[in-house]
Amino acid sequence: MDQTLPSEIQLSVVTPAREVAHEKVRGVTVPGKSGYLGILPGHAPLLSELQAGELTYERESSTEYLAVSRGFVEVLPERVIVLAEAAERAGDIDTERAQHAKQRAEERLRKITEPGIDRERARSALDRAVTRLAVAARMLK
Ligand code: ATP
Repeated sequence: MDQTLPSEIQLSVVTPAREVAHEKVRGVTVPGKSGYLGILPGHAPLLSELQAGELTYERESSTEYLAVSRGFVEVLPERVIVLAEAAERAGDIDTERAQHAKQRAEERLRKITEPGIDRERARSALDRAVTRLAVAARMLK
């Protein structure tokens, strides 16, 4: 039996609207529901929910950054499939839009005193906006 581990992973990042990434990579880090998951070739199969956060992947000579919203990740030894409600590459993020979304969400959170669904919705919107701003800032570093 061949015991050698694969050296690359086929990464697919898909949203309802489009395929944001489809390439062979050296490693991927995804924002799992209970924390960031580092995935290298040969990883044991797993299925996890995602939270809004930064998805990072390593190419041969560069690192790519994406903002992803809620979704799922399926890991297989040679494949990682991310199904996300929204995903944007760092360079495609409209920072002004994200800044406005952040302000709107913060304003809503300031007004809500009772716990409830609206608080959760505003909190999620804030998480998405903060993630987008953080990922966009990667372009400046
Ligand atoms: P907004 O209130 O600005 O619409 P949102 O968090 O509610 O933000 P989503 O519902 O997560 O937006 O995304 C809707 C669509 O808009 C998705 O296709 C997503 O990729 C895109 N999108 C949202 N915000 C940005 C942004 N700042 N830059 C680029 N694309 C964005």
